[in-house]
Amino acid sequence: MRVNLLGMTRQTLRTWVAELGEHPYRADQVMKWAYHRGAASFEEMTDLSMSFRDRLGALAEFKAPRVESVQQSSDGTRKWLLRLDDGNAIETVLIPEERRTTLCVSSQVGCALNCSFCSTATQGFSRNLNVQEIVGQVWLAHHALAEEDPDGPGITNVVLMGMGEPLLNFDNVVEAMNIMRDDMAFGLARRRVTLSTSGLVPGIDRLREVCDVSLAVSLHAPDDELRNTLVPINRKYPIAELLAACERYVAARPRARVTFEYTLMAGVNDSPAQARALARALEGVPAKINLIPFNPYPGAAYRRPAQADMQKFVDILHRAGYTTTLRRTRGDDIDAACGQLVGRVQDRTRRQERFRARLQNEGAPE
Ligand code: SAH
Repeated sequence: MRVNLLGMTRQTLRTWVAELGEHPYRADQVMKWAYHRGAASFEEMTDLSMSFRDRLGALAEFKAPRVESVQQSSDGTRKWLLRLDDGNAIETVLIPEERRTTLCVSSQVGCALNCSFCSTATQGFSRNLNVQEIVGQVWLAHHALAEEDPDGPGITNVVLMGMGEPLLNFDNVVEAMNIMRDDMAFGLARRRVTLSTSGLVPGIDRLREVCDVSLAVSLHAPDDELRNTLVPINRKYPIAELLAACERYVAARPRARVTFEYTLMAGVNDSPAQARALARALEGVPAKINLIPFNPYPGAAYRRPAQADMQKFVDILHRAGYTTTLRRTRGDDIDAACGQLVGRVQDRTRRQERFRARLQNEGAPE
């Protein structure tokens, strides 16, 4: 088995290279060839000695997940279905816009948090993605773009907003984001890498200490009573505690703001009173608000509000002084919009529940 260099931070790669008896700086050269110039093989890395290239070829590789299919939406959004070594599949979405190209990356196979309006939740949870699998998504999209347009800007932004709760896969996600930020790899600035969380307070505090990226928080409700029903983790970390963690996060970073995601659902959280309550709740927090029209999926219990109602909601927040965007829904013709990513999850949680239920029915000991 060859070592996969794709999941290695520069520091780890330097150590690995040094163990082969080469100068650690060679690691930087390898990374530049692979990430910047898209070298398909070690042979192409012509400023490395022939013998080192041969050894690299024998020992190592850059291996991303296998592309099972690519779907292209009429609006340019593209969705990859990626097959992992264990048979699971995950989804990655590319969203081209006028001035940027954003990649929406998954962090877990499925998700263990049961947000009531998210289709990933209906799939259950299988496992965390490893570093290679997270970085591999950026790698694949980056190389696909470079092939089509070698002089284009490639991926300009990455958001950890695909399948999974990134803070529940903390170490792998942080290492992957460090590779995204590294100049020898994807070289993305802090404001161009955004981690989105359902609101795990201890994870936000840990992230603040170890990794410099932008933070997005899935709020979806202005008060605890409603948020408890939509985002059940709120029972553990209620809004006041969550917002305090957000304030600590931005206080550690000059000019930073937290993006609050708020999925608008008809008759649930879209009234003018709720818009005003949201404005009050976020008072004092350096915030941007990202409103997302609810994206339907089979079996969903919610509906997207009428355009006029969503616009009223936006206007109230604008008048209260918040930078607010109503996200244009992208890629919904290929089920690539927020909350529509499902991949193919071998659900461990539910299988275990079924297994336990069966044992109990049969009266067998656990
Ligand atoms: N688990 C992380 C990362 C997922 S980000 C988090 O919760 O932040 C995906 C965003 O889309 C989240 O804000 C999520 O709440 C939202 N979302 C989920 N289902 C949706 C749906 N059906 N329509 C619109 N937005 C949805």
